[in-house]
Amino acid sequence: MRPHRYLTLSLSLMIASLIWILLGGYSGSAGPIVYFFNVGQGDAAFIRNAAGYNILIDGGPDSLVLKKLGLILPFWERRLDYLILSHPHDDHLLGLIEISRRYQIGQVIRPDYSPSNYQIELFSRLNSGRETKITAPDKIILGPGCYLEFFQPDLAANPNEDLNGISLLSKLSCHGANFLFTGDAGKTQEGKLLEEKADLKATVIKIGHHGSKTASGADFLAAVGAKAAFISVGKDNKYGHPASEILARLEDLGIKIFRTDEPADWRILFNNSQYYIKKLLLD
Ligand SMILES: [Zn+2]
Repeated sequence: MRPHRYLTLSLSLMIASLIWILLGGYSGSAGPIVYFFNVGQGDAAFIRNAAGYNILIDGGPDSLVLKKLGLILPFWERRLDYLILSHPHDDHLLGLIEISRRYQIGQVIRPDYSPSNYQIELFSRLNSGRETKITAPDKIILGPGCYLEFFQPDLAANPNEDLNGISLLSKLSCHGANFLFTGDAGKTQEGKLLEEKADLKATVIKIGHHGSKTASGADFLAAVGAKAAFISVGKDNKYGHPASEILARLEDLGIKIFRTDEPADWRILFNNSQYYIKKLLLD
């Protein structure tokens, strides 16, 4: 290769890295970084921690998540250690299928549940021919002092196969940073977790079921004790999410609300128990 080609290549790499850092690249943060992507009416959150683990929780309803992930990850990063599916509804699952076709996936994690209809086929497509382990663990370790804990659904309490009701909740705990992801879990599931005295305490929460009034009971929110809440929701969606009573409840509890339908993508940087929230526009 000629010297000027070396120079051009090095400059291109430098510019690409600079753009990546300006867009919110994850270098330099002591704690985990969580992104909430605006994927319309659906959910997609990405976690990167200091040990270098890449985790995607839900993928939204279409391929938009690919673009968002492509904007925050450097182009050489083609591996996701964990893909987590909260539950097999299209607005959480379909984007994960797109991701699994284009990224190398370490492990797929989903609720401990055997779907009995078309979701079986969708689940199998998540593998897209690769040897991907699909499991329903209670906890995964993400390096020293950092882990994701899962709250498995109670299937006995959900005999009607309400797929929202089988949502896998997950809680990220990393050096004093705590973040609770709730999928589309409703009040029945929240009540069960309260009864079990699950450790739900978290500084930041992803509000259940796009802010629907079927979730986010006052006692549940009180047990979590979050200071900031993210609502992943499509602009002018047909469901009327988020419900005005849930917004009022959060305000009454003094919880700051961040919504993806502003429109906005969000980045939360943790440094021990402190956190910094920044609005991004990943377009
Ligand atoms: Zn949903």
